[in-house]
Amino acid sequence: MTKIGLEIHCQLTKLESKLFCSCKANYREFEPNHNICPVCMGLPGSLPRLNQKAVESATSIALALTCDTPEKIAFFRKNYFYPDLPKNFQITQLNVYGDMSVGGEGYVNVEDKKIKIRRIQLEEDPGRIIYEGASERTKITLIDYNRAGTPLVEIVTDPDFESPRQVRVFLNILSDLLENLGVAEPGLEGAMRADGNVSIEGGNKVEIKNIGSFHDLEKALHFEITRQQSLFERDIEIAQETRHWDDRRKITVSSRSKEEDQDYRYFLENDIPWVKIDQSTRDRLKENMPESISSKKERYVEKFDIAPQVADIIASDRYYSKLFENAYSDNNAKDIANLITTDVIGFIDTKEKQQNSKITSKHLSDLIDAINSKTITRNSAKVALQEIMKSGKDTKDVLHDMDLGQVSDSSEIDDIISQIFEDEEQAVIDAKERPETINFLVGKVMQKTKGKADPVKTLELIKSKLKQ
Ligand SMILES: [Zn+2]
Repeated sequence: MTKIGLEIHCQLTKLESKLFCSCKANYREFEPNHNICPVCMGLPGSLPRLNQKAVESATSIALALTCDTPEKIAFFRKNYFYPDLPKNFQITQLNVYGDMSVGGEGYVNVEDKKIKIRRIQLEEDPGRIIYEGASERTKITLIDYNRAGTPLVEIVTDPDFESPRQVRVFLNILSDLLENLGVAEPGLEGAMRADGNVSIEGGNKVEIKNIGSFHDLEKALHFEITRQQSLFERDIEIAQETRHWDDRRKITVSSRSKEEDQDYRYFLENDIPWVKIDQSTRDRLKENMPESISSKKERYVEKFDIAPQVADIIASDRYYSKLFENAYSDNNAKDIANLITTDVIGFIDTKEKQQNSKITSKHLSDLIDAINSKTITRNSAKVALQEIMKSGKDTKDVLHDMDLGQVSDSSEIDDIISQIFEDEEQAVIDAKERPETINFLVGKVMQKTKGKADPVKTLELIKSKLKQ
């Protein structure tokens, strides 16, 4: 049986400052090596000062993942020498000697399987190493320390996954959960990364590191399982080792050395005293926690009779659920939900587009009102949506400026139909013989009126004209 475990690193991107200094947590806006100070560079005499908000965000994550959260937590130094680590140690956490990390012993339900969360720890991100060209052959290596000290949460699972597909489903659930909590933006480049460990029946455990995206992780896991199975079938021992994912060649390659835990010479970080997280703080964090995705979904289905798949799409995405929550009233919730999942998503399908879109909840409820009162057609609503997303103008103004008002005047539609009946003689004959082809004629009317003709009236008029 295949066993897969994960270590997920997630940056707490919603925080203002780094974990132990006042440099910005959002290092992405800076020129290289412009978001640094003596503390995050580990200069002699500098002392770390813990970002309390980071402790609260990490505790919220632990609580949301149903972890046990301790009364007090401690930090450790993990010593290793690597160019991306200016202090030559990373401040992190460990669950040893009774010195606890922010959480442990939680779980996530993935389909019908319970994936256990072994521990969650708060730590600092190292800097970034940038190779010019392929990493094996490059002569130039650049280091950017802007990221060094960024607050990071490490989530470690038990080896409970049985397939790469299960891993992907879990990571989707986890990143939605973190985003919903308002502590992270998993969509940002490098904000969420994962290492995997894989073993097959009778074989040693192999770790895969250095994976840039979840998509690549799934590919790397597939590759690794196949590689191990092929070794096993040929009676070759599967070495316990760390391997790296080579994105260019799409294979895993053996790393030169395997560092065991003791190689890091962990010891308590004495520059940071024990941190107490008392019951009242944990109660407050629990109370302020946003409604979970699963309970949102349930509410949408039960209260508004929204289809489960539609409810799932909206509840899982913070942006869409916010749009929905602020737009609906008791009588239009279903329409708003459908407008989001059929039209809005088509236009704003990335986080970047969501950020740039000027659409508000009021636009959505105004559009639904206009459709329901037959002021515009669904088709016109779609056209208006595109313009609203770009300009953010009032719905009424957009409908007026773009002349999108619905044509429901029978004589006006009738004139257009007469014209089309002349132009499309064959289609008229077909429609008389095979009523299912009538939509072709309806489509022609829509084309001519740029989607503004009342579709129900149009169909009625065409049907009666065909009988003449
Ligand atoms: Zn700093």
